[in-house]
Amino acid sequence: MLGRPTVAPPSTVSAMSAQFTRTPHPAPVPADRRAEIVADPGFGRYFTDHMVTIRWTSGSGWHDPAVVPYGPLTFDPATMVLHYGQEIFEGLKAYRQPDGSIASFRPDANAARFRASAARMAMAELPDELFLASLSELVGADREWVPPAGGEESLYLRPFMIATEVGLGVRPSAEYLYAVIASPAGPYFSGGVKPVDVWLSTDYTRSALGGTGTAKCGGNYAASLLPQAQGAEHGCAQVAYLDAEERTWIDEMGSNNLFFVYGSGDDAEVVTPSLTGSILAGVTRDSLLVLAKELGCQVTERRVSGQEWLEGAADGRITEVFGCGTAAVITPIGGVKHNEGAVEIGGGQPGPITLKLRELLTDIQRGTAPDTHSWMRTLVPASS
Ligand SMILES: *Cc1c(COP(=O)(O)O)cnc(C)c1O
Repeated sequence: MLGRPTVAPPSTVSAMSAQFTRTPHPAPVPADRRAEIVADPGFGRYFTDHMVTIRWTSGSGWHDPAVVPYGPLTFDPATMVLHYGQEIFEGLKAYRQPDGSIASFRPDANAARFRASAARMAMAELPDELFLASLSELVGADREWVPPAGGEESLYLRPFMIATEVGLGVRPSAEYLYAVIASPAGPYFSGGVKPVDVWLSTDYTRSALGGTGTAKCGGNYAASLLPQAQGAEHGCAQVAYLDAEERTWIDEMGSNNLFFVYGSGDDAEVVTPSLTGSILAGVTRDSLLVLAKELGCQVTERRVSGQEWLEGAADGRITEVFGCGTAAVITPIGGVKHNEGAVEIGGGQPGPITLKLRELLTDIQRGTAPDTHSWMRTLVPASS
């Protein structure tokens, strides 16, 4: 495997970005049905008319970028991903802007993370330019599926990559399929932002140092489903994990990073666990660190123990806790439960800093607040 070229030369990429073949869907969803779906899409239930596919093979690198009708993929039963789980993905959203254009939030960060995930899983690295072009191509083809400007609705984009070589030998695949699918997404909290309870798992961990916690791979999610079910039995919507070595330090949740607020008002301190090597570096997390500082909060990345969380919430030092990720942006946490008890946080209500940060970020994303950090990238211009 050493010396295998995993990245096509930049010149080829530029040429290729312009060379997506486009095959329109022969029978797209009728406009009135599409309007019905976009008006009440839920999350991840409906998919647009098209998808993007790009192939990689050792020897020829990335080739055949295409926009094709959304539809089933067929695989030989011995396809490697089905056996050894070489799979990674991303999640980001395209928002209709007030001027009619369609923009995405920091997709360059997702492109870089996708490459990093690929590297950890010994997969081919997709050049950022091709990643970004794939989003523009798909959103351009399915622009009618992007909900109107003004609300929190969006078109959720799901880039992913799988090992497609056929064979049972345990080694990195020599062939990959990169694809992007899109799904209209409603506001995450339809009846207003509501706090959830979180299960602090002491039976399972999410990721160990040196493991795959920093990669966005499907396997991490597979491992989270049993603890998730355990949490659900206790009425919890999400699971928070402790570190695998000492079972002491808060890591993150199954698909969300965690923030803790100490104190309130001008004295508020916003704390999130530092990226010590098992935590997935969320784009939302990174953006909130910037926004919290601008809000005047003291911002700290450090270790937080599970005990500190439980005691701090009980004695009122910790006033707010929230999870963050692309899908829900910010989810307030109203209580934490574990094998030996439960603690309410901030009276079980979403706190002021939680709500303010959520508003600041969503306003930038839907284009109603100035994008002072140049976080937004236009995927489809207004006129097209
Ligand atoms: C995707 C993900 C997040 C959130 O990342 P964002 O870039 O903010 O969407 C957090 N934790 C895990 C484990 C994830 O997979």
